[in-house]
Amino acid sequence: MEKKNLKGMTLQELEDYMAELGEPAYRAKQIFRWIYRGATRFDSMTDLPKELINKLNARSRIGKIKIHGKYESAIDNTVKYVFLLEDGNMVEGVKMEYSFGMSACVSSQVGCRMGCAFCASTIGGLVRNLTSGEMADEILAIQEDTGKNVSRIAVMGSGEPLLNYDELMRFLNLVNSPQAFNISLRRVTISTCGIIPEIIRLADEGIPVTLAVSLHAPDDSIRDRIMPVNRNYPILQLLDACKYYIIKTKRRVTFEYAMISGVNDTTECAQKLSRLLKGMLCHVNLIPLNPVKEKGLKKSDPKKVAAFKKILEDCGISTTVRREMGADIEAACGQLRRSMMLDGVKR
Ligand code: SF4
Repeated sequence: MEKKNLKGMTLQELEDYMAELGEPAYRAKQIFRWIYRGATRFDSMTDLPKELINKLNARSRIGKIKIHGKYESAIDNTVKYVFLLEDGNMVEGVKMEYSFGMSACVSSQVGCRMGCAFCASTIGGLVRNLTSGEMADEILAIQEDTGKNVSRIAVMGSGEPLLNYDELMRFLNLVNSPQAFNISLRRVTISTCGIIPEIIRLADEGIPVTLAVSLHAPDDSIRDRIMPVNRNYPILQLLDACKYYIIKTKRRVTFEYAMISGVNDTTECAQKLSRLLKGMLCHVNLIPLNPVKEKGLKKSDPKKVAAFKKILEDCGISTTVRREMGADIEAACGQLRRSMMLDGVKR
């Protein structure tokens, strides 16, 4: 009989499991607390009776991912982790330190099938979804390694999180649970390339996560070229879905815009984007493109980025230029990969 992995179960699911084992519900709370304090063995759960520990050892287990590699930036305190999953696949995650605390960027899938032209995660396609337990384990591994608690989470690593919707929701349940990570969902950002039906579904959940939409273009002809998802979900329909999200959640939407030299960084592009976003409760994050060697795209000149920002701001659109955290260790946006093996480079 395959042992049941208890990491990643919600408290309710664990209570149901305890009922199946003929145990009272309060045992679930005890086990749940231990797991998200980092316990990996039932024997270390000192408030459980021996018979229950034996029962759990016979039928259950606590999954664990391992840190396979760790790359520390020389220019800031960003650290990129390569996590080894139990089935041998690898994903990457990043921790960043700010004055307000530690922030973690986690992956939601092994690889990605969305094919964005500037992104390393999609080289090699999608392998599989991560489970809620694996996503939680990315946080636990970072906490264990640093000895500090994560206070903000961005689901912005490899993968399209909204195409792993059910596991994402279970992960958010753990993030928010007082007995697990106890992090407010206001401090969680979910990034999407623009899967319209799932944006609507997320809006209807009534949870206050920040939605970050990878927009990267002001019109369909440019977006079609660099983001194949746009052929199914064109820009005006995507913005309508974002407006619905804003109405339902009363939260400001962030638009990510990678500045790619000669592709989407002209004055005309900035003007078009301003017209699209004017009056919307949103924020634009301009990201000087982080180069990915296989992709052959170049970052925009800083003067072009500044001019682009000014045009948006003159239209009253809140805009920032994102600091390039961890660019020397390929930990920045769009640079996370499925595994080190794709690099073909030994580090
Ligand atoms: S940007 Fe996001 S959705 Fe696009 S290929 Fe990369 S991971 Fe996938």
